[in-house]
Amino acid sequence: MLMTERIQQKLTTIAKIAQVYCRACHAKRTGLCEECAELLDYVSLRLSHCPFLPDRPVCAKCLAHCYKADKREKIHRVMRFAGPRMIFVDPAAAIRHLISLRSKPSPAVRQAMKRRELQQKTEDKNAP
Ligand SMILES: [Zn+2]
Repeated sequence: MLMTERIQQKLTTIAKIAQVYCRACHAKRTGLCEECAELLDYVSLRLSHCPFLPDRPVCAKCLAHCYKADKREKIHRVMRFAGPRMIFVDPAAAIRHLISLRSKPSPAVRQAMKRRELQQKTEDKNAP
């Protein structure tokens, strides 16, 4: 699958997750409330800039921590609520996610993580 297709697939899944959450928790019948729409925009942007593309790990297992603290908390809340319900909404996506949660990071991701670790160490050393 092409990299752009993979991102597109993830983005579609994330949009569904946001919808499940917003419909149940914010009583939105169609579309998203302002808060959820903003969060979805934010996540989509971060995802398309993920440094570990194309074979990124699931965010929960990632070392990069590219979400800001307040956003991360919201994402966590949404995932905790909508995650288990995704098996009814989009079983294929739910299963894909479960598989990536259990699988080891690909060699490319492991290498990138190592590089990042080294980079952070040198940055620490250079810090005043
Ligand atoms: Zn909402």
